[in-house]
Amino acid sequence: MNTPTATSEEPGRIAYYTMEIGIQNDLHTYSGGLGVLAGDTIRSFADLGVEGVCVTPLNEEGYCKQTLEEDGSQISDADPWPVEEYAEPLDVEVTVEIYGRDVRVTAWRYDVVSEQSGETVPVIFLDTDVEGNDDDARRYTKRLYAPGHGDDFTLAQELVLGVGGTRILDELGYDVDTYHMNEGHAAFLTAELLARNDMDEAAVREQCVFTTHTPVEAGHDEFDWGLVEEMVTDPVAPDDLRPFSHDAGLNMSLLALNLSSYANSVAKKHQEVSQNMFPKFEIDAITNGVHVPHWIGDAFGDLYDEHITGWRSNPYKFKHATVLPSEGLWDAHQAQKRETIEFINEREGSDLDPETLTIGFARRAAPYKRANLIFYNNDRLRHIAENVGDIQLVFAGKAFPGDENGEQKIRDIFHNAWQLNDVIETQYVEDYDMEVGAKLTEGVDVWLNNPRRPLEACGTSGMKAAYNGIPQLGTLDGWWVEGHIEGETGWKIGPDPEESTPDQTTDEEETRQDAMALYNQLENEVIPTYYDDRERWIKMMRQTIAFNGPYYHTRRMVREYLLDAYTN
Ligand SMILES: *Cc1c(COP(=O)(O)O)cnc(C)c1O
Repeated sequence: MNTPTATSEEPGRIAYYTMEIGIQNDLHTYSGGLGVLAGDTIRSFADLGVEGVCVTPLNEEGYCKQTLEEDGSQISDADPWPVEEYAEPLDVEVTVEIYGRDVRVTAWRYDVVSEQSGETVPVIFLDTDVEGNDDDARRYTKRLYAPGHGDDFTLAQELVLGVGGTRILDELGYDVDTYHMNEGHAAFLTAELLARNDMDEAAVREQCVFTTHTPVEAGHDEFDWGLVEEMVTDPVAPDDLRPFSHDAGLNMSLLALNLSSYANSVAKKHQEVSQNMFPKFEIDAITNGVHVPHWIGDAFGDLYDEHITGWRSNPYKFKHATVLPSEGLWDAHQAQKRETIEFINEREGSDLDPETLTIGFARRAAPYKRANLIFYNNDRLRHIAENVGDIQLVFAGKAFPGDENGEQKIRDIFHNAWQLNDVIETQYVEDYDMEVGAKLTEGVDVWLNNPRRPLEACGTSGMKAAYNGIPQLGTLDGWWVEGHIEGETGWKIGPDPEESTPDQTTDEEETRQDAMALYNQLENEVIPTYYDDRERWIKMMRQTIAFNGPYYHTRRMVREYLLDAYTN
């Protein structure tokens, strides 16, 4: 252990707890949008000089290194990162009781420094790989979401985050005003606060805020009371937690909601869904964003520098994007597109062509995201490519290790791509991460997003695309309900949000309708506009930036948290 870096004066008034965080590509401590959002949030904390600190598990074996076999079968390996190169060990140790035994927790520090303000926000990584811990305990903070393990392991990971994290902050001298739970994983921090406040729930509530990201009931972590009784003996007795959940089990979202003074969802549509799921609670909406300029490619960065003064520190200025000249827009786009295609071709040995309309799709291979929707009817897709205009497809995304359904989606894409390879060049980019995500959202022509409604809480990859002038083609779900203007910022797939709910249509029928709607848009709007009306296409690029640029950034989002959540 090295020298301590924290003093009793350490700021950290807002403590942001998250199970995953995407700070930079070499730190494999994220699996998807939840983590990338956390990273962008902390970056904006630093830009805005928010006195904050982030708490998260070390996850030194990462999430999942994806290798794809010839048929698209995913091989999932651990994905370690060199902790010592990036983080500094802290001379601090606390214990958390799990199964009645003491588990030691120590920590590492990584500083997020703002290029704009020079301010720093520390990320405190929790580590249980400590001498004196048994083998199981040493693995609690090893691998994100612990694939292959059961609920007991998840519960242990969440105790380390919530209880261990709070004790570590205390030990380091952070003076926390507000505890922000980014998703229910961190809700055990309320147990620690209950114990500290003599079970005064009102006092705990005053200090806590909660953000939910999960629009499906089954997606919220819930532990059997039997398991809770076995494992949780400290800082409060399991019975003390019962009033804050329900009989079926310890539901981490209910625990968080019951002990927070403020709760929010992550998009307007998601608010409706969450409010229906938790009718007893008031749930606000703060729509997610992405960190500007992190997700903007070089050519667009230069273009904006020339025409939109001050956009880097103040993305509200994208309102002025209406002045962007057509030629400059197109040249910047083509430059980034060439770079993206070169990146993919080099990495994958593919033969993508920079003059062909390129459709990009990259996100976790979770079944509800329906990565294979475009292949619903290969005859129709073939007909479109042969008769309306050339397209090529680029995919990326990992299935959760061991998730058969997600893995099947990837194999399905490989299979269909192979069947169509005489007319459509398709490339699946292996091992989706923040770098691949950035490259794809900087340099394809259209961003495709077709989750099953209303299962996408928000989605942020389409926002990254928008900042690079790339229109989205998507089902009206998550942020797209807010960001979509038909024929201006992109195109919709399927009905408006109020026109259909999953209760009224079967999965199968809705997927069939959405596929038909997708084909109609490709055939009648997207492809003809791209090849035959370039002026209109460029106008859509400009509208995308001018309409969505001023809003979908984490500077706006963090300000909303400051005004609406952290002041409660
Ligand atoms: C932006 C990003 C995401 C989030 O994408 P969604 O649109 O929310 O699915 C996930 N993973 C990576 C690597 C990203 O960069």
